[in-house]
Amino acid sequence: MSALHEHSITALAAALRARTCSARELTAHYLARIQDLDEHLNAYITVTAEQALAAAERADRQLAAGTAGPLAGIPIAHKDIFCTNGVKTSCGSRMLDTFVAPYDATVIERLQAAGVAMLGKTNMDEFAMGSSNETSYYGPVRNPWNLERVPGGSSGGSAAAVAAGLCAAATGTDTGGSIRQPAAFCGITGLKPTYGRCSRWGMIAFASSLDQAGVLAGSAADAALLLQAMAGFDERDSTSANEPVPDYRAQLEDDIAGLKIGLPKEYFGEGLDPGVAASVEAAIKEYEALGASVREISLPNAPLSVPVYYVVAPAECSSNLARFDGVRFGHRCEAPRDLEDLYKRSRAEGFGAEVKRRIMIGTYVLSAGYYDAYYLKAQQLRHLISDDFKRAFAQVDVIMGPTTPSTAFALGAKRDDPVAMYLNDIYTIATNLAGLPGVSIPVAPVDGLPVGLQLIGDVFQEGRLLNIAHRLQQATDWHRARPGVL
Ligand code: GLN
Repeated sequence: MSALHEHSITALAAALRARTCSARELTAHYLARIQDLDEHLNAYITVTAEQALAAAERADRQLAAGTAGPLAGIPIAHKDIFCTNGVKTSCGSRMLDTFVAPYDATVIERLQAAGVAMLGKTNMDEFAMGSSNETSYYGPVRNPWNLERVPGGSSGGSAAAVAAGLCAAATGTDTGGSIRQPAAFCGITGLKPTYGRCSRWGMIAFASSLDQAGVLAGSAADAALLLQAMAGFDERDSTSANEPVPDYRAQLEDDIAGLKIGLPKEYFGEGLDPGVAASVEAAIKEYEALGASVREISLPNAPLSVPVYYVVAPAECSSNLARFDGVRFGHRCEAPRDLEDLYKRSRAEGFGAEVKRRIMIGTYVLSAGYYDAYYLKAQQLRHLISDDFKRAFAQVDVIMGPTTPSTAFALGAKRDDPVAMYLNDIYTIATNLAGLPGVSIPVAPVDGLPVGLQLIGDVFQEGRLLNIAHRLQQATDWHRARPGVL
């Protein structure tokens, strides 16, 4: 048997059930890897070794008694944006550096009920704002494929941890690409479900109309197992969808012969690295070999998605982050002179530069006199972007293209140029604006760095997307490649 961390979750679950390996042994294996390797990556903000071992022992007892849940004893990590009862929940910010959540997010609660052992909380861009993990108060995460490169963001800690075998899978969140982009940069599978599919309750809000919880995993089949546990209606989240949860695992094996793939011409134009384009095209050829047909489509308003997003997301964040004022939540400055001084200094000290930039943009676009010109206009364009997808899905079953315009860039390369950083999400953001599901899967690398193929589906088609991704992963080995540097 190869090393435990090289196995899929399906294989690990089978080994645990057959008792050829105990949950305690498996968790201890991952904890030892974190101890040995995470100093090179900085993927974890908090490691919860004691709780992980206790959860593993509980899973072992349940496995022995035959009462175990579907993910009993599977060691996973959570992005530090999810509230975890009794455990520090920082959101990558100094603002919440000492915050210990008094309850579990719904997604955490559901995964816990399925039996997972939480290894710890992963590093992330501050309040999920970023595409490189460099805005984290806890320092950047490094890409396990090349330690001088970024892992992507904002779920960069989760992506690096999965790619390097420091957990079996991880949770993430995606507001404009934060699951799919780091999955692409780290050579793993990342799923952003339909808006409302997974509860946002207990997930620290960045932009509430865009935020969605999802999964970073070694394969589409592994992602399906986690999604099965996470998805579903939650009455505590008024935007959660009251839709039945299908059997994602059963759907994986569906036939894809006759699948109609649409390639948006806007996703293959100027700005796309030629190596990335070639890898994506080679993967699409594989789909044709599997019986799919391909046609060009157009999403004419997609090029507006970055400017629209950078009005809508900052507007929502300026409102959501008002609660971090040193009174209701968050860091409080020393010896305030009066209430105003307390607010100002607590926020000035607690937030980093990118978060402050977004709060200022958001406050500006919502202010009287500018609201109509920016916020209202952006909302109108958001409708047009969404309508483009409706028209496309009348013609095709799935949309495919690159997840990102390039492979992972060097640490520091875009740190001082916010617009260049924002353009990294040019292919992922439209999906969030339209509330649609998206998956990134690894295809042929370029110069030793991973490349992601993005699959976009119509609402609640995440099961179909995982099925389409799984079929490619059965026919090819791209998703099996793992970084060798560690
Ligand atoms: N990179 C985008 C941003 O900085 C998206 C982040 C996200 O999806 N959380 O806002």
